[in-house]
Amino acid sequence: MAGQKPKNPEVHATYLPKDKKSTKPFHDTPMLDQLVDGPWPSFVTGLKRLAHDNNMSVDLLGQLEHSYKTRIGYWKGGTVSVFGYGGGIIPRFTELMGDDGKPMFPESKEFHTLRVQPPAGNHYSTKMLRKLSDSWNKYGSGLIAFHGQTGNIMFIGTTTEKTQHFFDEINEYGWDLGGAGPCVRTGMSCVGAARCEQSCTNEMKVHRSLVNNFLDDMHRPALPYKFKFKVSGCPNDCMNSIQRSDFAVIGTWRDDMQVDQEEVKKIVAEKGRKNIIDNVVSRCPTNALSLNDDNTLDVDNRNCVRCMHCINVMTKALSPGKDKGVTVLLGGKRTLKIGDTMGTVIVPFMKLETDEDYEKLTGLAEETIDFWAENALEHERVGETIDRIGLVNFLEGVGIDPDPHMINHPRTSNYVRLDDWDAEAEKWKNRKAAN
Ligand code: SF4
Repeated sequence: MAGQKPKNPEVHATYLPKDKKSTKPFHDTPMLDQLVDGPWPSFVTGLKRLAHDNNMSVDLLGQLEHSYKTRIGYWKGGTVSVFGYGGGIIPRFTELMGDDGKPMFPESKEFHTLRVQPPAGNHYSTKMLRKLSDSWNKYGSGLIAFHGQTGNIMFIGTTTEKTQHFFDEINEYGWDLGGAGPCVRTGMSCVGAARCEQSCTNEMKVHRSLVNNFLDDMHRPALPYKFKFKVSGCPNDCMNSIQRSDFAVIGTWRDDMQVDQEEVKKIVAEKGRKNIIDNVVSRCPTNALSLNDDNTLDVDNRNCVRCMHCINVMTKALSPGKDKGVTVLLGGKRTLKIGDTMGTVIVPFMKLETDEDYEKLTGLAEETIDFWAENALEHERVGETIDRIGLVNFLEGVGIDPDPHMINHPRTSNYVRLDDWDAEAEKWKNRKAAN
């Protein structure tokens, strides 16, 4: 920004240790150095700090500077694995060779990344983080990303030989590799009930049940393409599971929202009626809220679409209902063959309390993965399979009855075309009554 005094060089300097333990001299990095001149934190500061510790990071900076100069990336893939696993490691070998045919930056000629599954809800203890860092300092470059786009802890930069040693060590105290390639990928769940009052389900248990059930499919890639589970505890969907996962589990409720009228009155007294009408009542997407003359709030629960806006704004006064469960959606993903897709509701509501409930959920995931694995084209996500063969055929394949709640947009159009509507509606009512 014009006139803004760069602060980062001073910060950069304070982060660099005085002692240099690495034995290789630093490479000149004039282009990378420009990145620490701006007012923003730069990853170069972190890399330079690591370069004081080990030769691998010294050479990594050398190769990176060379890439910046030539505007070419010099990493190629390959095959690196640990015993018994077919995935979880992203191999990187340098392509940058000198005139003598040897690597120009030999210390970082192998720079593989290990994807390690995070704990459900990303709950770590400081002790455990230190332990992981110590192991990585022993066997790798020291560079760690919490967390990559995939949700994994990314341990970036080690050699083929040390990959196995590092894995053995962290596996010994409880960590496992995540997914990479055409397989069930590392699951993700929000922080959940431990720190959030909106939680409507046991996110950790859902996450663990799904991942533990599909560990084989995670470690030995044999599916048409990737398959991701994400779990959000409430319709705020902090995990972006609707957009970013093939199988989204989102906590919700089916009875009336809980309203503490005394708290409503207090908030209205504090902020004023106009404020509440402007910022809460009139922002309800379905006009389901009305503020009465005595400053109490009425909620038309039949028309509430669980957008969470009013609950987020009036946290003390409003909260999810008591009859809690989850909604399951299939087929969200970023751009591929048919562009970005959002998840489709395939189970509008299911209770998740007993072991049988959890078995039902993992059973549904199994049916889905089996049907998709058998019927998908190469490199096709489940959302694309549904798009190609039609939702009705897909539902038949996984053994789910069509439900009028499977909708494209709230209260507009059904995904499922029910030509003989009356007869189908009758069947649906009977099914509901039987449950
Ligand atoms: Fe309206 Fe959203 Fe509140 Fe439901 S959660 S009442 S849809 S603002």
